[in-house]
Formats: sequence, C-alpha cells, structure tokens
Amino acid sequence: TEPRSAGGIEDRSPTTAYATAIPVAHVRNLTRDFDNRRVLDGLDLDIAPGEFVALLGRSGSGKSTLLRALAGLDRGVRGELTTQGTIAVAFQEPRLVPWKRVLPNVFLGLRHSDPKAAARAALAEVGLAARADAWPLTLSGGEAQRASLARALVREPDLLLLDEPFSALDALTRLTIHRLVIDLWQRRRPGVLLVTHDVDEALRLADRVLVLGEGRIAHESRIDLPRPRRGDHPRLLALRETL
Ligand code: ADP
Ligand code: MG
Repeated sequence: TEPRSAGGIEDRSPTTAYATAIPVAHVRNLTRDFDNRRVLDGLDLDIAPGEFVALLGRSGSGKSTLLRALAGLDRGVRGELTTQGTIAVAFQEPRLVPWKRVLPNVFLGLRHSDPKAAARAALAEVGLAARADAWPLTLSGGEAQRASLARALVREPDLLLLDEPFSALDALTRLTIHRLVIDLWQRRRPGVLLVTHDVDEALRLADRVLVLGEGRIAHESRIDLPRPRRGDHPRLLALRETL
C-alpha cells in the first residue's frame, strides 16, 4: 500500500512496516557495571531499519551508556550486540575538534565524492552556513549541538544515535531542528535512537517510545498516529499518563 500523506508529512504503520526486516541494532542481555554498580542489567532492544525510537529515562539511568555501547565505543559491556551498516552519533556534549574550524569538523573522516560540499549543505540544513569558518570554541552551546548534528547527518547513516541533541537549543530553533530531523528521516529512513528528557518531544517525533529504568527497557509505547496531528491527540494524552 502507498504511504498515507497528511499535511505534506508521510506516514505509515510502523507495526507492519518493521515486523520482518533485519534490525539495524539488535541487543540481548546487555550488562554494564561501573565500579561494582550495575548500570545496564540484561537490557534487550531491537531497532528496525527506518524506525524512529525515542529513549526516555531519569538522569543516570544509563541512556548515554547504552548509546556508547551501540556506537561500539564501550568495550566494557557484556551481552549480545549487533548493528547493521553505518552508525553516526551526535553526543550529549558536542565533541568538536577545537583546532579545526566548523566545516572540516563536519567532513572529518567522511567518505564522499565531495565532502566539503556535502558538509556545507549539512551546515546549511541546520542553519549554520554562516558559521562554517568559525572556530568551535566561539560557538554557542546550541550552535555546537547543531554542528555536531550536521556531522552526524552528513554521514547518511543506517543508524543515527542522538543523545539529547536538542537540549541546548532555544525553543524556536528546537522546532526547526525537529522538522529537519523528521524531514531527513523521511528522505533517508535511517533507524534513529533519540535520547531525550522531553516527553512531548518523544511523543511528537518517534514511532516508539522507550523508558529506561533499572538497567532495562522498563516501559515501551508504540505510537501509530500520523505526525501532524499528534500534539493534542486524545490517545497521546492518555499514553502520556502511562509514561
Ligand atoms: P544518563 O545518560 O541516563 O544520564 P549515563 O549513561 O551517563 O546516564 O550514566 C549512567 C550511570 O553510569 C551514572 O551513574 C554514571 O555516573 C555512571 N557512569 C557512566 N559512565 C561512567 C564511567 N565511565 N565510569 C564510572 N561511572 C560511569
Ligand atoms: Mg546522558
């Protein structure tokens, strides 16, 4: 069947679209201890290709630890973890190389026929074209986060890991970047795991909302509603109560 279109935003039924595909991330019984403290405790998670998943959880619940593990950056995890294809990460703290200007930070290590042009386009998409030649240390927190997002987006990954990428943005920029991430997701269909503290953001953006608690996925809600009308939808309001 053709995807439905509402208000220019394509929609589809996640449950049927995602059921059969090989997951871009497959995690079973993932455990991580720090100093005899168990932060991840037998966590199971699958992310289907093209699925947009939001991850909520209290500070210190292990969200960033899970993302680092998925990105292959943590050798200390135990359990089963497989990922498919390219992964790009926008970290909670934007990690820009301070001795390189913004543009080369974005195309650093990028495999592309014209990495500079691709990086410029990505910076323009996040509204940072004018800061391409700036030094990272002269950026505001929100600008650094957007540069970090551009660096992740330009890689056109199969799995996009976003660790609170919108937290330092002002409310207006945040809405613009939400729109950008949804647009990009609809064009490229990466699997997305978005860590956020903002329940409304999670409900607005994601197909599935997970809550991390006690080192595992403690709660899960699938959101099969069209995006444009999500904000005040009675089912979302009800769902919100359960989170
Ligand atoms: P969240 O992102 O959900 O706020 P984190 O994944 O950053 O949580 O951290 C989960 C817990 O693990 C916290 O208690 C944190 O202090 C601890 N932790 C994370 N990284 C390390 C580390 N490298 N060494 C020791 N403890 C860590
Ligand atoms: Mg974190």
